[in-house]
Amino acid sequence: MNIREICKEAKRIGISGHVRPDGDCVGSCLGLYLYLQKLFPKKEIKVFLEKPADIFSCIKGYDEINILEDNMPEEAPFDVYFALDGRKDRLGRAEELFESAKIKVNIDHHISNAGGCGDHNYVEPDASSTSELVCDLVEEEMLDKDIATALYTGIVHDTGVFRHSCTSPKTLRTAAKLIGFDIDFPRLIEETFYEKTYVQNQIMGRALLESILIMDGKTIVSCIDKKTMDFYQVTSKDLEGIVSQIKLTKGTECAVFLYEIGTLEYKVSLRSTEKVDVAKVAEMFGGGGHVRAAGCTMNGTFHDVINNLSLHIEEQLEGTSA
Ligand code: 5GP
Ligand code: MN
Repeated sequence: MNIREICKEAKRIGISGHVRPDGDCVGSCLGLYLYLQKLFPKKEIKVFLEKPADIFSCIKGYDEINILEDNMPEEAPFDVYFALDGRKDRLGRAEELFESAKIKVNIDHHISNAGGCGDHNYVEPDASSTSELVCDLVEEEMLDKDIATALYTGIVHDTGVFRHSCTSPKTLRTAAKLIGFDIDFPRLIEETFYEKTYVQNQIMGRALLESILIMDGKTIVSCIDKKTMDFYQVTSKDLEGIVSQIKLTKGTECAVFLYEIGTLEYKVSLRSTEKVDVAKVAEMFGGGGHVRAAGCTMNGTFHDVINNLSLHIEEQLEGTSA
């Protein structure tokens, strides 16, 4: 894929990532935004995202993001529109901007997005992150400290600081190239990945305290309801990292974390070590993701949701799935 060629004739270029943007989503969108601005200073380039967490404000361009919750997406179609880090149906309100664009481009690393949804697609399920893929597309001589900071943040977040199995030799070579731009990576990792506010730690504590082991300790489950979120005055952004933390419980193959997003409606996060393909489980319920990290939204009571998920997790743990 040649971004320079694709955008050559365009006057207006749009960029969006998935709903509830995470580090890779924000990093890849802003990395691409900064690159395009540098490449085409005269073109109109806009990023539309749901409001990302404040921790990402250290990335240049953060303040220029058009927040989807605040701005009704514009009417006039974009000449080129980039959907990053997901399929078009995960763009939320930006899906219509993508749909109406003259040229659609999809850059992603989700296994559940095989083939891609654009006129031009760069979809590599083996890549650590969309940020790594964006880095492949940026010419060496165009990279700079700001672009490197954005893309490095994305890689750090999707690899869990280079410890998930999606980390490849190429991921590390890419990261090595990026820290060569003298970015303050210890601080970036500390402040965007590990650091938690007091209430974030408190609610993580609640989730750990109330977690339960099922399937002979092979699966760990925890849930935060709306009442608890209101009590601590937290939003979904404050729950990032909880599923990875409960997954650290020795002996577990699979971790399930739910939080209530509406009446009898839960956002589900799934993680696995080795035996369970959680993308397959999430896809059963209209979601998706990666083999080791996936998610979906489910309806019903907490017990309904756990029962429905357990069926598919257990099937894989016992090796009885097709
Ligand atoms: P998380 O559990 O951190 O929200 O998401 C884990 C992975 O699954 C991420 O790569 C995320 O993009 C993907 N994912 C989470 N929820 C959904 C969903 O509802 N649909 C799809 N297609 N992917 C999801
Ligand atoms: Mn990603």
